[in-house]
Amino acid sequence: MRITIAKTAGFCMGVRRAVDMVLDAANRSEVPIFTYGPLIHNPQVLQMLETRRIFRMDTIPEKGEGIVLIRAHGVPPEDEDSLKKAGFTVINATCPRVVRVQVIINRYAENGYATIIIGDKNHPEVTGLLGYARGNGHAVTAMDQLQALPVFENAVVVAQTTQNTAFYEEIKAWCAANRPHYKLFDTICGSTERRQQEVRQLAETHDAVIVVGGRQSGNTQRLAQVAAETHTRAIHIEDVSEIDFTALAETRSIAITAGASTPNWIITDTCARVARHLQHQRPLAGVLARTQDFLLNTNILLALGAGSLTYACSVLQKLSHTLVHAAIAMLYVLSMQILNNIFAITSDTYNRPDRAAFYKKHRTSMAGLALFSGAAGLYLASKTGVISFFILLVMSLLGLAYNLKIIPTGFCKKRIRRIKDIPGSKTILITMAWGIVTSILPSVDNNSSLAWMAVAFVFSSGLVFARTAFFDILAIQGDRIAGRETLPILLGEKKSFFLIRYILLSIIGLLGGACLAGLSFFSAFVLALIPVFMLLLMSSFEEKRQKSGVQVEFLIESTFLLTGILAALI
Ligand code: SF4
Repeated sequence: MRITIAKTAGFCMGVRRAVDMVLDAANRSEVPIFTYGPLIHNPQVLQMLETRRIFRMDTIPEKGEGIVLIRAHGVPPEDEDSLKKAGFTVINATCPRVVRVQVIINRYAENGYATIIIGDKNHPEVTGLLGYARGNGHAVTAMDQLQALPVFENAVVVAQTTQNTAFYEEIKAWCAANRPHYKLFDTICGSTERRQQEVRQLAETHDAVIVVGGRQSGNTQRLAQVAAETHTRAIHIEDVSEIDFTALAETRSIAITAGASTPNWIITDTCARVARHLQHQRPLAGVLARTQDFLLNTNILLALGAGSLTYACSVLQKLSHTLVHAAIAMLYVLSMQILNNIFAITSDTYNRPDRAAFYKKHRTSMAGLALFSGAAGLYLASKTGVISFFILLVMSLLGLAYNLKIIPTGFCKKRIRRIKDIPGSKTILITMAWGIVTSILPSVDNNSSLAWMAVAFVFSSGLVFARTAFFDILAIQGDRIAGRETLPILLGEKKSFFLIRYILLSIIGLLGGACLAGLSFFSAFVLALIPVFMLLLMSSFEEKRQKSGVQVEFLIESTFLLTGILAALI
């Protein structure tokens, strides 16, 4: 079974920007937040916004307070003025591509030009654009409507950003032939066109296409229509529960795409559940899928990876007694990660709904496993030395305190009550904790040289930083919804990818330097394969985004396991 996720699936730039802006406002402000009209046409997103106390406002009251966000479609300028006059703080999240059209219309209307908009006058974007036409704007949806308009002395012609390109080309050709004095502008957004082209190509190469998105969303409907026109089975769903899986039992390839207003978590969830349902109908694939889910959800794969990384760090430092330290690292990481997953159920609902459901169902047994493994790790550490025991104890207590409210409400203006509320703390603390447990604890007990301990620490913590920051990028939407300020939320996706790349390349450089300081070329080469592999994996995800989040997670977590296997070759 082949499942392909369309590269263009999900939020377009304008919608993502508007959703990020409203969530950032909600995370930083205590006042009520409203969106002027529905932010996007997606019922799950609207429901989610209400849980974050972000409400929809359809009419402007005479007086009000709080923040109002103008959505990506934009509004007529007089609406923005009325909102300000009523007393609201206005955040204008109009998409920059729509702003460009507003600016064109405004500039020409100022000089007495009439405005012709090729688009639906009832669509909010067109309503907003007409507001800039100074009473001389005309929206048309068909050629005969354009032909019926009077001949203006001067006119500017623009298209609604989501307009059909072929139709607008016809309009332009007619204007060039019959109204050559009109000024024509290309204002259709490339995002819509690219999305439709891709779904057409996918429909031609797959047995079925699933289009995910709100039924009220025009661009989602159009995607389903484009797929259906190819005569491939096209299914438009709002929620994965609507799919009739028995009808898809014989399907060998499925493409999944989504409208511009469908968030990542719905796409990821749809993809994971479609894969699971179809694989479960085939015994061997079903067993493999269940094993993968079990290893990921229980964090056993991650713990094994921590053990492997400890072993690799010990090999790098030429240490003995590595197995007990590998076991300590495994138990510590298992314990802390399970606790994190228990506390992160809210954000996981939007990032990994299957994992959130797993932790809701097995909360007690997983909490028991976390406590048991934490205690077992401390017991083993006490057997290796007092210093190791105290370092691990402090780290475990910090890990426990990470999610707990330790600062009373009202004490800190910046709404920081827990360690986890400190912006970017998650990535940094996980990196430091892993670095210490995988490289410093074994060194302390073996009296390793400081220089080699530092090399092992940078090697290990660099890899962990790359892994954690990458997962934070995958979880960026869910974390925003849950109000977490992770590193990628602070830096943005592009800068975070740049930082990850820079760190992985630095690890390769470090191993090269260690080679000059006495590490064998073979050892350096073998260990350098891990950052190279991570770089390739992340770059392929960044460019194609064609694997589901679960598959990518499995591959990345497996790289730490690979580190131990490669270290065994040295
Ligand atoms: S479809 Fe294009 S113009 Fe419309 S909001 Fe998205 S990016 Fe902006």
